[in-house]
Amino acid sequence: MSGSFKLDDLLLKVPGIGPSTYLRLQKKGIDTVLDLLQLYPTRYEDYSLVSAVATLQPGETVTISGRIKSFDNTYTRKRMTIQKARINDGTGTIDLVWFNQPYLRTNLKINEVYSIAGTCELFRDKPVFRPAEYEVLSGEKIHTGRIVPYYSETTGSSSKFIRQKIHMVLRQLSDFGPDYLAEALGNKLMDPYRTFWSIHFPRNRQLLARARERLVHEELFYLSLETNLKKRALQGQIARSIKTTADTFDAYSRLIPFRLTGAQERSLKEIYDDMSHGYPMNRLLLGDVGSGKTVVIAGAVHAVLKNNFKTVVLVPTEILAEQHYRTLARIFSGQKYRIALLTSRTKAEEVDYSGTDILVSTHAILYHKKPLGKIGLIVIDEQHRFGVRQRQKLIELTKEDDNHPHSLYVSATPIPRSLALVIYGNLSLSIIDEMPAGRKKVKTFIIPETKRNNGYKWIRERVMKDRMQVFVVCPLIEGSDNEKMQDVKSVENELQKLKEVFPDLSLGAVHSRTSHKDKLMHEFKEGRIDILVSTSVIEVGVDIENANIMLIEDADRFGLAQLHQLRGRIGRGQDQAFCFLFSRASSGQALARLRHMETVFDGFKLSEIDLRLRGPGDLTGLDQHGFKNLRLEHLMDSRLIGSVNGAVHKLLEKNPQFTYNSLFISNISFQDGLILN
Ligand code: ADP
Ligand code: MG
Repeated sequence: MSGSFKLDDLLLKVPGIGPSTYLRLQKKGIDTVLDLLQLYPTRYEDYSLVSAVATLQPGETVTISGRIKSFDNTYTRKRMTIQKARINDGTGTIDLVWFNQPYLRTNLKINEVYSIAGTCELFRDKPVFRPAEYEVLSGEKIHTGRIVPYYSETTGSSSKFIRQKIHMVLRQLSDFGPDYLAEALGNKLMDPYRTFWSIHFPRNRQLLARARERLVHEELFYLSLETNLKKRALQGQIARSIKTTADTFDAYSRLIPFRLTGAQERSLKEIYDDMSHGYPMNRLLLGDVGSGKTVVIAGAVHAVLKNNFKTVVLVPTEILAEQHYRTLARIFSGQKYRIALLTSRTKAEEVDYSGTDILVSTHAILYHKKPLGKIGLIVIDEQHRFGVRQRQKLIELTKEDDNHPHSLYVSATPIPRSLALVIYGNLSLSIIDEMPAGRKKVKTFIIPETKRNNGYKWIRERVMKDRMQVFVVCPLIEGSDNEKMQDVKSVENELQKLKEVFPDLSLGAVHSRTSHKDKLMHEFKEGRIDILVSTSVIEVGVDIENANIMLIEDADRFGLAQLHQLRGRIGRGQDQAFCFLFSRASSGQALARLRHMETVFDGFKLSEIDLRLRGPGDLTGLDQHGFKNLRLEHLMDSRLIGSVNGAVHKLLEKNPQFTYNSLFISNISFQDGLILN
């Protein structure tokens, strides 16, 4: 290590990375030397076998080296160009053959010695060499003669460029800071410097495996450390203790017209237990769409009311607020509790805060200046729809002196348990992993394009005869304003198209630019719209009794768990519901993935399949948690998570004052969006 780069140096400092390249990389979140090093390869090619030209066999993938003797650019009839360079290595001569790369004429120098990795092939019955990588032979080989790393194309830079810069940086790197990992887990793991070398330029598969092992541990270790430190900070706060007795649960059960499922009962009792402490509960209630989270919420509210404290329920939309308001009013009818609804349409003066026991509100409450007294619990439904600051704001609004409210976050984003433990590590977790008995599954079919019209015919009949209502979902196109416009266009186009297919039905569309979303949802709920076209952003939690058909366009662009969440919007009444998936994807793989939707009806299982097939990047909900940075697929390994968590606990026990300031944190820590930063 000659030591001219530090991990937090900006990439501008790296020779060959000029301002425009730097800006492009920076836009992708690759700003510092460490960011560059953490751009892990997506695959490798093994070019480590070095061969003499004389012994080349067709079919072999190897590295050869030799002097270029001539270069030739020829045109074929099909308007293709062929580049041929003849090289000699002292044992023999062979032609290097490329297609359609005329610029090679300027790049390759006659009489220069090159190292070339590629495959020997027969071309018109003669062995030729098809180069994949080449470099001038001088000093250490970077692109040939070794296991060569390839990087994601999304950076806008070629693998060759990235590879060369990483190699340059690694050779001149200094200063890694303390290795907390070795301290906590023992010194069995590869050290950080060798880890970076071996993940990018592994000398063999064993070293690559060891580097991966280190990175996996490291990623989990810092996640766990961070969440544990946050948890510890929370436990230093004060909250009102909510007392429950053996009778509390039974008393609540009597208010409910059905039996709670085992999972609902367990979750509710976990909440009771958690709220009994003198420090704030900070719990996530996680359950598939339709698993019955609302009754559990109401159960928590009930216990708080019994203790003479109040509750605020925060929901992302007006329509959901009204729905919760009605459900809670139904459950607590005949009780003395007063429930109020606060939305942007309510006049602030109309709400009697001091006389209210349960306040159901949209964001509107966050603009409210008046402190709300005696709040024992805040519930945040569809918690991912709120930013960290909004959640924090609600806590600020509802805490009195040093008394913090208990917090219950609610989410229908199904993610594998092991992953949830990491992502929501600073929260306690209650998972409702059981559906109420007798719930009908949404029958799901992948419909080939050729059957589209039959599908439409069938839908028309259901709408006309059974008054069924239909959701049509188009993929959300995210990103720049320009892309957002496309998004609007795709919904508008779909609407126009469907108006031609169903001229006699009533159609509506909601997208990111629709200003009267709530009004449209109301009309749909009241049955005044037959077919509602939307992107994937519209509400998940809304009950629309007759919405029993969902049609999803370009279904392959969604994660399975997300598709599952979408189809959870239908089939909320008594009738059988149907979900049709359309896909223009031609790859068998994409269709095979979608097929799981036809047979698997458990959101957690589907998210595990997602994780296995596509990695964590595509899991719903991960983006908003800043978890797109998790590049290694290890999160299914709950044993590993357990052992790393254990090491972190030990470390914190041994050293209660432990704080850290590691550079590694920068890239793997939670970013804006995680609950309670
Ligand atoms: P979500 O988890 O999606 O918020 P809800 O709380 O809206 O689900 O519940 C969905 C439906 O299931 C509601 O109509 C609710 O009354 C019903 N439900 C909830 N729990 C049970 C249960 N244990 N038995 C029967 N029906 C239930
Ligand atoms: Mg709900």
